[in-house]
Parts: sequence; structure tokens; C-alpha cells
Amino acid sequence: MRASSICGSDIRAIYREHLGVGAEAYQGVVAGHEPCGEVVEAGPGARRLSPGDRVVVYHISGCGQCEECRRGYPVGCSSDHRAAHGWQRDGGHADYLLAEESSCLLLPEPLTFVDGALVSCGFGTAFEGLLRGRVSGRDTLLVTGLGPVGLAAAMLGRHLGAARVIGMDPVASRVELAQSLDLLDVAVADPADLAEALGSATGGRGCEVTIDCSGHPDARLAALRHTRHWGRCVLVGEGGTMTMDVSPLLIHPQVSVHGSWVSSVQHMAELLELLVRWGEHPGRIVTHRYPLSEAGTAYEVADRGQAGKVCIVWED
Ligand SMILES: [Zn+2]
Ligand SMILES: [Zn+2]
Repeated sequence: MRASSICGSDIRAIYREHLGVGAEAYQGVVAGHEPCGEVVEAGPGARRLSPGDRVVVYHISGCGQCEECRRGYPVGCSSDHRAAHGWQRDGGHADYLLAEESSCLLLPEPLTFVDGALVSCGFGTAFEGLLRGRVSGRDTLLVTGLGPVGLAAAMLGRHLGAARVIGMDPVASRVELAQSLDLLDVAVADPADLAEALGSATGGRGCEVTIDCSGHPDARLAALRHTRHWGRCVLVGEGGTMTMDVSPLLIHPQVSVHGSWVSSVQHMAELLELLVRWGEHPGRIVTHRYPLSEAGTAYEVADRGQAGKVCIVWED
């Protein structure tokens, strides 16, 4: 292992409490579902990888044969063979990890191991959500929730062509981080200020694409409410509920709402290729790095919800 970052899901479903059901049932294994490292040994039958290869680990292995697996989304596999690193099989918070060859994506230069760890869940999730929203240069993009996935959505949305990127988060330090990374055209801290900010940015018509990366009911609703007629609202922030007036918010504005969960294996591979082409480094959003021996501190910092991305690193 060379880098193993901490995800909001680790905090929500393992660190604070063990939710214990379905895909998020934590089985007492080594945690860490954003692993990136270097191949030290390839098992018998390995066809592609050899020692020294730098790889990002797509963190869920499936049966390989069901409809979801064949689509390239082992995250959606419902067979008994499905297991996610850091949840039901050992993850990245250890010196070594055993992974399927099919889960390993080559990490191209000049991406770093930290870049790769961030792609293996958070950036992959943001990228998939933006693809679902079909973001292009025709669109203004609103990102609600500027935690690591929201920062990723803002960064990648810009590269995908979004004409303007607007971000909202009530945590001032996160808004400041997004601005210091030059990810936003307009930043808003309070959902109540969104209408006014968007009014001047969009002529009062709302955003063609909105993406909620927070999972908070108010932020979700704000994203939907500020989606332009015929626009797309993408939900990637996990947990909780959403209550809405269906006619004025969904039916009459002809809005499409998309749920999007992690990414396909191929989209993750595509993202790695695009990051090189764009000259981009996801590691820019990492605010805290710790060695494995200080994992406890790393989790405390991530749990406070004030930081950018927190990553356990073996070397830079
Ligand atoms: Zn994750
Ligand atoms: Zn399957």
C-alpha cells in the first residue's frame, strides 16, 4: 500500500456506528476502501499485472457474472460473492492488500499514489455522477456539499466543460478550501442565499445540472429547487431522506433526478486517463496526511468534518 484515504462512508457507517446492513455491513476487516499501491507479487493465473506495477484498486469485487457485474458495476452486484475492501474484505489501512487482478487499474504517470487513492472511490463517484448529469459546456453546475466528493465534482465538472461552477456548503472552512483551490465561480454558505446568488449567475433560471454530494435533506432540496427546467439533478451524497412537493419541483419543471452510486470500473479507468490529459491532480484536495501509525488521529480529523481529504500515506 502507498496511499489509503478516508471516505465519508467510513466515518458515517463504520467510525461513528456500524450500520451493519447490506453493502455497508462492516465485517470487522481491515478498514480503508480507497487503496492505491504497488504490486509486489502476482498470484498464479495473473495475466496482466506484475511486480512494480502501480495500481488503483476498484474497491468492490463482484461475482463477475450478474447483470450489474457485466455492466461493469460490481458495486451493484447482489450475489454472495460481492465483497468490498474495507467493508467485507480487508482494505487499504495495512501495509499489504490482497486484491483481484480485475479490480486493479494501472495508475499512469504523472499521477501520484495519493491521486490514485482519491480516484478509487471519491473522484470516481463524482465523475460517474457528472456523467449521469451529462455535464458539458452548455451547463452551469451547482454542487451542494463541498466535502471531498463535492470538491471532486467541482474540479471534474470544470474539466468536463461546465461554463460556471457554483458551490454551497455551510462549513466556512470547506468553502474557503474550494475557493483557495480555484474550483468555484460562486461560493455560497447558506442555502437561503442560494436564490440570490444563482439569480445573478443564471438569470434566475437555475442550473442545468445540480449534484448533491452532502446527503443532507436541506442541501438535496436546495439542489433540486435550483435545477433549471428540463435540467438534471444528481444525488450522490448517501443516507437520510428527502421530502418534496412533487408537482412544483419535479413534474412541472420536467426535471430528471438521478441516483448514482460509485462508478463503473471502466469509467474509473477513463477518469485516470483524463486526469493525465487534463494535467489535473486529485491530491490537491488533500489537507491532511498521516502515516498508518497515526490512523487514529486521521479518523478524528476526518470525523470533525472541517477538513478537505484525509489520507494515510506510506510515502509521497
Ligand atoms: Zn467511499
Ligand atoms: Zn455480480
